[in-house]
Amino acid sequence: MNLILMGAPGAGKGTQSEKISEKWNIPAIATGDILRAAIKAGTELGKTAKSYIDDGKLVPDEIVIGIIQEYLASDVCKNGFILDGFPRSIPQAEALDAMGVRIDAVLAIEVADEKIVERMSGRRVCTCGASYHVAYKPSQKAGICDKCGAELYIRKDDAPETVLNRLKTYHAQTEPLKEYYSKKGLLVTVEGQEEVADTTRLVFEALSRF
Ligand code: ADP
Ligand code: ZN
Repeated sequence: MNLILMGAPGAGKGTQSEKISEKWNIPAIATGDILRAAIKAGTELGKTAKSYIDDGKLVPDEIVIGIIQEYLASDVCKNGFILDGFPRSIPQAEALDAMGVRIDAVLAIEVADEKIVERMSGRRVCTCGASYHVAYKPSQKAGICDKCGAELYIRKDDAPETVLNRLKTYHAQTEPLKEYYSKKGLLVTVEGQEEVADTTRLVFEALSRF
């Protein structure tokens, strides 16, 4: 299955993509994680990406398109994939089409803006890609990743002012993709629930049709 996951920042894309990845045994490619890894490693890509991310803006299309092109051409994606956080704009979606990549479904997780702001304040993440929430999805040991034992941290772009910018960016640049994919008959939407497990059940139900 070749899947695109969409949703506002904090809608739970990363969390659900982990579940889908386990169940269907396909890799999740998260552009946000790739960019944060580049920032941490201090590469040229990281340096360029940082200022956009810290402002809650999109990193320029040509940069992320280049990253995705590399991944999709590699062996890891040959049995299917989940794109978590790509495409995030119409030009990115058009570039994906131009690559000749077949997409089976686009799953959009819907969460109201008010909820998003509340959720982001409790988010804790790990460099391994795992993410937690102090109330909704706590790690077993506070501040420590269940998967790899590393210390959890708060993303700089989860600061309340930046979250508002990210939401603006989402509505302006990413949300039009719903119509883009709906016209192609690929869009499936799921309402994000309070409990992670409830959202996962809805997500699995929605994807069982593909
Ligand atoms: P979230 O979905 O919670 O906002 P991500 O980790 O997916 O978090 O993305 C974090 C940031 O990385 C975005 O706000 C944006 O600056 C950048 N980014 C990630 N994916 C893309 C993309 N496809 N195009 C442009 N920028 C991106
Ligand atoms: Zn970890």
